Amino acid sequence: MSSIVRVSHSTIRNLNSCPRKVLFEKILRLFPAVGSIAMRYGSGYHAGMEAYYKNNKDIIKAMEAVVEFWKKPTIQTFNEDYRNLESLLTSLSLYHEQYQHDNEVVSGIPEKKTITQILLTDEEKVLYGDIAVDFVVVIDLILEVDGMQWVVDFKTTSVELSYMASRMRKMVQLMGYQFTAQASFGSINGTMVYYHQLKASKSRKTGLYGETKTDFMKFPMIFSNKDYADWRKYVVWNAFKMQKAVDAGFPPNFNSCYEFNSACAYLPLCDYPKWDMDKFLVMEGFVVVPDEREEVSNATE
Ligand code: SF4
Repeated sequence: MSSIVRVSHSTIRNLNSCPRKVLFEKILRLFPAVGSIAMRYGSGYHAGMEAYYKNNKDIIKAMEAVVEFWKKPTIQTFNEDYRNLESLLTSLSLYHEQYQHDNEVVSGIPEKKTITQILLTDEEKVLYGDIAVDFVVVIDLILEVDGMQWVVDFKTTSVELSYMASRMRKMVQLMGYQFTAQASFGSINGTMVYYHQLKASKSRKTGLYGETKTDFMKFPMIFSNKDYADWRKYVVWNAFKMQKAVDAGFPPNFNSCYEFNSACAYLPLCDYPKWDMDKFLVMEGFVVVPDEREEVSNATE
């Protein structure tokens, strides 16, 4: 019987940066005590937009969901800047003004993690061993837009949206949404990315942020059968590497410890004089953040 290797887009991204990041982030669930405000803003926006669509474009419900999200106690702490509750509420309100009359209807709310299983061919088994791959995605919403079915992804960024969209053209996460949803829920046309830009420049003199710039863009992406064949190869190859990383005890990749002008957040752990996972779990500067999502849906290739 094939052994199952489970991977997701973010696990593969961590693996390719450094296998130890998979151990720290995905298995031990260890995170820096001070979290990223950009990610928190993104999660808050996501919570608001999800509530907006699930409640038939009710902006009040969306705002309530955002306030509830922002006020909920967190294990990590965050240093707020222009990305705060006020800017979240303003962005939602601007979005509502601009898009409330678009022809969009919720057609699916999967809620939990969805798995598609990729079975290897005999040739692939010669290369990679007798494994099967569980590819996991979290699909929050499926929308019918003008009669077509889309998996929706909400992305927030500070960079220009046209640049962002061109960078995401071959993003494996977006391919994974389409292919997994097609395997699990049938007639899905593609992935619709709802981009939101929030940007503010910092004054060199005062160190304070100026006015914010807010923008939105809906960007449909449809991936082909050829994209699927390439994506599948990518997933299988990385699942093989993941299995080897587990077998090898998550070896480090010191090339990723310093990138541009920032250091890997896990450097204090890797620099610690002794490899001691019990100690890491209670190390000052880190917290354990449990994964709240459960898995339910399955599809087999
Ligand atoms: S500090 Fe270096 S070796 Fe340690 S997890 Fe980060 S990138 Fe990997």
